[in-house]
Amino acid sequence: MSVIFSHQPNPKVTFLGAAGTVTGSMHLLQYKDFNILLDCGLERDKNTVLKDDEFPFDPEVIDAVILSHNHSDHCGKLPALARKGFRGQVYCTPASKDLLGVVLKDSVNIQEKEAKLRNRTKNRTVPSQNDTFSILDRCVPLDYGKTLEIRNGISLRFHDAGHLLGSAISEISLGKGDKVFKITYTGDLGRFGLPFHTNPSPVPAADLLICESTYGGKYHDNEEKMAAKLDIVMRDTIKRGGKILMPAFSLGRTQMLLYYLETWMLQNKIPRLPIFLDSPLAVEISRVYKRYNKHLSVNWNSESENIMILDSWEEAQTASFHPKPAIIVASGGMCEGGKILSHLKNHLDDPRTSIALVSFQAPTTLGSKLLEKKPSVYFHGKSWNKWAEIHEIKGFSGHADQTDFNKLLSPIAKTSGHVRLVHGEPESAKALASELSKLGFKDVKPVRRGESVTLT
Ligand SMILES: [Zn+2]
Repeated sequence: MSVIFSHQPNPKVTFLGAAGTVTGSMHLLQYKDFNILLDCGLERDKNTVLKDDEFPFDPEVIDAVILSHNHSDHCGKLPALARKGFRGQVYCTPASKDLLGVVLKDSVNIQEKEAKLRNRTKNRTVPSQNDTFSILDRCVPLDYGKTLEIRNGISLRFHDAGHLLGSAISEISLGKGDKVFKITYTGDLGRFGLPFHTNPSPVPAADLLICESTYGGKYHDNEEKMAAKLDIVMRDTIKRGGKILMPAFSLGRTQMLLYYLETWMLQNKIPRLPIFLDSPLAVEISRVYKRYNKHLSVNWNSESENIMILDSWEEAQTASFHPKPAIIVASGGMCEGGKILSHLKNHLDDPRTSIALVSFQAPTTLGSKLLEKKPSVYFHGKSWNKWAEIHEIKGFSGHADQTDFNKLLSPIAKTSGHVRLVHGEPESAKALASELSKLGFKDVKPVRRGESVTLT
């Protein structure tokens, strides 16, 4: 698939990623002679179509990127875009800009390591940290609620999506006078009633609503249920004298998890145990969270004395073999990489240990294999007995569920035009489409990769 660029008298959006899947968000908005990308994310799943440095268009013709938030499936391809000739602006919130520096540096490090493993170091298309700097130089921060004319006749306003620090719903107006088209791109939407990130703001009505659908037709556990489940896991582990390992993504999930662990301990909802944090990236991200505390719904102190930060491999090993029960939160939400691996090697075959998975585990990842009811698991060249207890604590998700979708979208059902559903497995997108039709939306469809919609 290759996009043909031509003058578009009316706004046209082509869906280039996150179509029938939850990864690789990238949509192309063309209007007159302007070409704007809505997100520029990496694809990380079994159906990956494009390599990390491949685009279905010439990056030189992209005038601007509107960035919804900093999960790598929304921003991870920006350095590759710069490497291949993108010279436009990247519009994002101020918090997103600050997080982008931390996240892209880490993402490029990983891509460089992968390229080395595949012997592609001589391949000049693999992005470098210079490309990260080039993207950061191009960032134009825009506060929530303010309107900016980004091109003649194209204006942008961000609203808090409540999914992650700095996450934004993009309200885009195109045209002037009596003929103004409105496009709303939700990015990833957050949740109501799970304090830490804010509640999502109202979603603006639009001629075209591009909406995520990750948890369409599904419902999250509430806070009480999550705490009660973790309480049982912790009490059983304490009786056995073991460790509780909690793999967590460094951006957003770790900060939220630490907040809940501390809060629940203070409220005596779970036993009080030492908490070790083995995630240098999460520590760096937490500093940005601290700077933007006003954008959280709670007053969170990222440097709490109850959390012991592990700064080196030696410190991590000492904590891993700490003689008493403790919680170890470590990077690597799906156990595919990160600091969690060394703790898994130390404890996976120890029947005293509990592994509490607090993130979605994509099929084929080590995290999903741990959850399978098989007696052993193979990783790092060895078969492990998996004598540790494996638990899933659902409910920490940063994504809207069906109750949230209904609350957010029902007010605009009668005043919106087309709805196109992205960022969801086919089953979830279909379930959301059916619910939105019941709410009164007229034209709701999950998208297919490469498909376009033109507003008239
Ligand atoms: Zn996200």
